[in-house]
Amino acid sequence: MKCVICKQGEVAPGTATVTLRRGECILIFKDVPAEVCDSCAEYFLSEAVTEKLLQRAEAAKSAVPLAVVSASTSATDFGIAAVITS
Ligand SMILES: [Zn+2]
Repeated sequence: MKCVICKQGEVAPGTATVTLRRGECILIFKDVPAEVCDSCAEYFLSEAVTEKLLQRAEAAKSAVPLAVVSASTSATDFGIAAVITS
Protein backbone atom coordinates (compact mmCIF):
# COMPACT_ATOMS: atom_id res chain seq x y z
CA MET A 1 0.00 0.00 0.00
CA LYS A 2 1.29 3.45 -0.88
CA CYS A 3 1.72 5.93 1.94
CA VAL A 4 -1.03 8.56 1.93
CA ILE A 5 1.24 11.16 3.52
CA CYS A 6 4.29 11.24 1.23
CA LYS A 7 2.77 9.23 -1.65
CA GLN A 8 6.23 7.78 -2.26
CA GLY A 9 6.89 5.08 0.29
CA GLU A 10 5.30 1.72 0.83
CA VAL A 11 3.45 1.04 4.05
CA ALA A 12 4.28 -2.25 5.74
CA PRO A 13 3.57 -3.82 9.13
CA GLY A 14 6.05 -2.80 11.80
CA THR A 15 6.21 -1.04 15.11
CA ALA A 16 6.15 2.61 16.06
CA THR A 17 6.84 4.79 19.05
CA VAL A 18 3.68 6.69 19.84
CA THR A 19 3.50 9.76 22.06
CA LEU A 20 0.20 10.73 23.61
CA ARG A 21 -0.57 13.73 25.72
CA ARG A 22 -3.33 13.54 28.32
CA GLY A 23 -3.53 16.81 30.18
CA GLU A 24 -0.20 17.40 31.88
CA CYS A 25 0.89 13.85 31.37
CA ILE A 26 2.90 12.70 28.37
CA LEU A 27 2.96 9.02 27.63
CA ILE A 28 5.39 7.30 25.36
CA PHE A 29 4.39 3.91 24.03
CA LYS A 30 7.05 1.90 22.33
CA ASP A 31 6.86 -1.13 20.08
CA VAL A 32 3.29 -0.34 19.15
CA PRO A 33 2.12 -2.50 16.26
CA ALA A 34 1.50 -0.19 13.32
CA GLU A 35 1.71 0.14 9.59
CA VAL A 36 4.88 2.09 8.93
CA CYS A 37 5.97 3.97 5.80
CA ASP A 38 9.44 3.00 4.61
CA SER A 39 10.03 6.47 3.20
CA CYS A 40 8.75 9.13 5.62
CA ALA A 41 8.36 6.87 8.71
CA GLU A 42 4.79 8.01 9.22
CA TYR A 43 2.82 5.37 11.08
CA PHE A 44 -0.79 4.34 10.92
CA LEU A 45 -2.56 2.71 13.84
CA SER A 46 -5.52 0.40 13.62
CA GLU A 47 -8.69 1.31 15.48
CA ALA A 48 -8.16 -1.53 17.94
CA VAL A 49 -4.63 -0.39 18.73
CA THR A 50 -5.69 3.24 19.07
CA GLU A 51 -8.44 2.27 21.48
CA LYS A 52 -6.00 0.24 23.55
CA LEU A 53 -3.52 3.12 23.67
CA LEU A 54 -6.21 5.48 24.89
CA GLN A 55 -7.29 3.01 27.56
CA ARG A 56 -3.69 2.64 28.71
CA ALA A 57 -3.28 6.40 28.72
CA GLU A 58 -6.37 6.90 30.87
CA ALA A 59 -5.16 4.28 33.33
CA ALA A 60 -1.62 5.62 33.43
CA LYS A 61 -2.31 9.30 33.85
CA SER A 62 -3.65 8.76 37.35
CA ALA A 63 -0.71 6.56 38.25
CA VAL A 64 2.68 7.60 39.57
CA PRO A 65 4.17 10.81 38.14
CA LEU A 66 6.95 9.01 36.31
CA ALA A 67 6.68 5.42 35.26
CA VAL A 68 8.91 3.39 33.04
CA VAL A 69 7.33 0.17 31.96
CA SER A 70 9.01 -2.34 29.76
CA ALA A 71 7.20 -3.01 26.55
CA SER A 72 5.93 -6.29 25.31
CA THR A 73 6.56 -6.91 21.64
CA SER A 74 3.61 -9.15 20.95
CA ALA A 75 1.24 -7.86 18.32
CA THR A 76 -1.66 -7.54 20.70
CA ASP A 77 0.05 -6.10 23.72
CA PHE A 78 2.49 -3.30 24.27
CA GLY A 79 3.81 -1.37 27.20
CA ILE A 80 4.15 2.19 28.19
CA ALA A 81 7.78 3.17 27.87
CA ALA A 82 7.52 6.28 29.98
CA VAL A 83 5.02 8.55 31.63
CA ILE A 84 6.22 12.09 32.02
CA THR A 85 4.36 14.75 33.92
CA SER A 86 5.33 18.36 34.06
ZN1 LIG B 1 5.28 8.08 3.68
